[in-house]
Amino acid sequence: MSVSSTKTTCPYCGVGCGVIVNMHENGRVEVLGDPDHPSNYGRLCSKGSALGETVYLAERLLYPEVDGEQVSWELAYSHIAAKFSEVIKQHGPDAVAFYVSGQLLTEDYYVANKLMKGFIGSANIDTNSRLCMSSAVAAYKRAFGEDVVPCNYDDLERAQLIVLAGSNAAWCHPVLYQRIAQSKESNPNVKIISIDPRRTQTSDISDLHLSIRPGTDAVLFNGLLLWLEAAGELDQRFVNASTEGVEQALESASLSSPDVQTVAETCGLSVDEVEQFYRLFARTERVVTVFSQGISQSSSGVDKINSIINCHLLTGRIGRKGMGPFSFTGQPNAMGGREVGGLANQLAAHMEIDNAEHREIVSAFWQTKTLASKAGLKAVDCFDAIESKKIKAIWIMATNPVVSMPDADRVKAALQNCEFVVVSDCVANTDTSRLADVCLPATTWGERDGTVTNSERRISRQRPFLSAPGLAKHDWQIITELAQAMGFEEAFRYRSAAEIFDEYARLTAYKKAPQRQLDLSGLCHMSLREYDDMPPLQWPVTDLANQQNNMPMYSDGLFSTENRRARFIAVTPQSPASSVSALYPFILNTGRVRDHWHTMTRTGMSPRLSAHRIEPFVEVHPDDAREFGLSDGKLAQISSETGTEIFVRIRVTQRQQRGSLFVPMHWNLQFSSQARVSSLIKTVVDPISGQPEFKHAVASIKSCDASWYGFIISRQKPVLKYSRYWARSRGKGFWRYEIAGKEKPADWATHAKTLLNVEPGEEWAEFYDKADGHYRAARFVGGHLDSVIFIDSSVLLPPRDWLISLFQKDGISTRERLSLLQGVPPADVEDVGRIICACFNVGEKTICHAVKNAGAKTAEAVGEICQAGTNCGSCRPEIAELIQQCGV
Ligand code: SF4
Repeated sequence: MSVSSTKTTCPYCGVGCGVIVNMHENGRVEVLGDPDHPSNYGRLCSKGSALGETVYLAERLLYPEVDGEQVSWELAYSHIAAKFSEVIKQHGPDAVAFYVSGQLLTEDYYVANKLMKGFIGSANIDTNSRLCMSSAVAAYKRAFGEDVVPCNYDDLERAQLIVLAGSNAAWCHPVLYQRIAQSKESNPNVKIISIDPRRTQTSDISDLHLSIRPGTDAVLFNGLLLWLEAAGELDQRFVNASTEGVEQALESASLSSPDVQTVAETCGLSVDEVEQFYRLFARTERVVTVFSQGISQSSSGVDKINSIINCHLLTGRIGRKGMGPFSFTGQPNAMGGREVGGLANQLAAHMEIDNAEHREIVSAFWQTKTLASKAGLKAVDCFDAIESKKIKAIWIMATNPVVSMPDADRVKAALQNCEFVVVSDCVANTDTSRLADVCLPATTWGERDGTVTNSERRISRQRPFLSAPGLAKHDWQIITELAQAMGFEEAFRYRSAAEIFDEYARLTAYKKAPQRQLDLSGLCHMSLREYDDMPPLQWPVTDLANQQNNMPMYSDGLFSTENRRARFIAVTPQSPASSVSALYPFILNTGRVRDHWHTMTRTGMSPRLSAHRIEPFVEVHPDDAREFGLSDGKLAQISSETGTEIFVRIRVTQRQQRGSLFVPMHWNLQFSSQARVSSLIKTVVDPISGQPEFKHAVASIKSCDASWYGFIISRQKPVLKYSRYWARSRGKGFWRYEIAGKEKPADWATHAKTLLNVEPGEEWAEFYDKADGHYRAARFVGGHLDSVIFIDSSVLLPPRDWLISLFQKDGISTRERLSLLQGVPPADVEDVGRIICACFNVGEKTICHAVKNAGAKTAEAVGEICQAGTNCGSCRPEIAELIQQCGV
């Protein structure tokens, strides 16, 4: 059987793993890690490994639509061009906006930015990357004079100490976590410190976990700065030659963090914990401090990051291998967007919009007289301006702000009332596209052609291996053709992504200031073939023939500022904007789960990825659960200052700090009745970066008074009624619904048949105890199990795993039928339990069996017995946890 192979890049997180896609003749899509890609060397996490399951056309948007009617591209373009032009004519260019995405490729970003800033003449283009890494951008620019991540992934393997601040890399950047874990395994002297209010899977491999009081990170790092100076760890030569502002930074630090006692009290840690951290940092030369959304999604995220960078500048631990302050970016191309000016306050090629000389350079290069002259509106301000009707027309590309923006219900209302909304996306139905006047079908991973840049500045190719379905087009094509329809033909004549990349590369070299690091002059004028074959490369690229890999940035001690000195920033720590009160006694933290990505438009389609966490949940500490009457497995209603509430499943866990709640960010109206956690987040942002404070809202929680609970597993989607709560997940050939409600039908037997659309004469088995509210039924079609529905007055319903396994079988035996409505397998059939290893479908009961009965004491031993954890390795932290729990 013939196989065609394509090397491309994973479309999920900022790690940017290289993948090899093998297309088999029978249509099977096999996705493997690329052993030659320097970011992952063949590794993939569960999401990357399951990419093959997400490549199909169901749920795709395939044709342009205007007001819900399918139209030609020409008609869609002329409609959008007319509407945008009319708004601009009447209200000026600042009355329109683009809201773009870290999912776009660099070439898409480049032309979107060029159209808005260069030719429409407004800088109202911002990206959803604003929500995840804009504080890192601002902090790097303040310290180094340019948005330059100074580290490389191989620094993680060279470091003797890795400090992970606000980063659950095990779930959010799994392949980097694997590299860190592997490094520690091969060298026990490598130390890991995790700074996180929650005990996460990342904390589990740390030598020291600092369960810090939320929002106090800058106090901790200011204290470290003082300690390092007092301990004589200051690198005087480096500080004198390459930096400025150390005195002011130390002075500020001495005000907030005068001694360890004060730091410990403020941060909710013991003196011993703080001293252990400080001593380890002080005496270790090769230190990498990783920071992620736990630090940056804060109303003072920029300062927090600068307090970290200060410590590296003071010790001179930057610009050399195995050390530095390292931001892990969330999105696959957040970095590429930063390079080409995807943020409202930047120009392309790391030039600044408020710098007249930079504006002249870009205007000359683009040959435009209408370049925007001032910064545009950042994401939150942009949606505020839509609400107040200052912005009258918006084009949203490849993102879902009705789910992901803070105060998401307000964003939804603002878009509902907006004069003109265009959405381009690959998916037909998102919470945002439902509000659009025009929907444009875009290509997606597997069809797209272009480049992305990952967290270590590595540019990799995304190559197509499928043709565009229906009438879908690449984002750069859509933008280019719309620009032509608006009358900008001359500047938008691109015929390929390669031409756009070439123009971008030439712009990085055009009249370049010597101190600027972003330089792709070595990639200019490539042939189509050279662009196509371009290997993964880290910028700067000035001489392709002599390009070096994994070189530290600023190794000469010369930074990107005018005077080439790095700047210490005097940091005065700020408290989070909201404080707990009698009304809202909990701090609400949001984040990711292991197997889902953002708003689930892709991962929600994968049965494998949907098996790990099947519904939205809140994590709560056992003492809080007792005090507030919250029981594990029941439902909670969470409310916040935005006046909104959500409904989620309760998970009681010691991993959560007392007084704090954790809710994942992914679930939306397509997958759950009401669980968009962003609707609970107030629109508080960092004043410098504009990044919202997703990690610290305040909330109240109470048990939800459901009178019945249930679940449905069915090959068809049921028509739900009476379910105050529902969450659905996709299985292999079926949908699974968890449901609950207060109101109930007069008769479950009648209602269940309506709900599952049961026809007279269909094979239907049921059990009904009306007095106790127990109802169970199953439908069989052609000897196969087609649907089951279980309803109970309590939450104590049978486990679903064995029932789910019956949906994979060719037929149902008599013994299985007899057991089915009890919901328990026959005595000799194994129930694998909740799925832990998504790659090999291994459940927790199977893993516990390997530990208890076969004596497995390590993740490797478990893997040898039942394969769990032997493919992508994303579940290894949970296997380690189960070994502890089940060990005898
Ligand atoms: S770590 Fe996982 S999600 Fe991130 S790029 Fe690699 S395979 Fe994709």
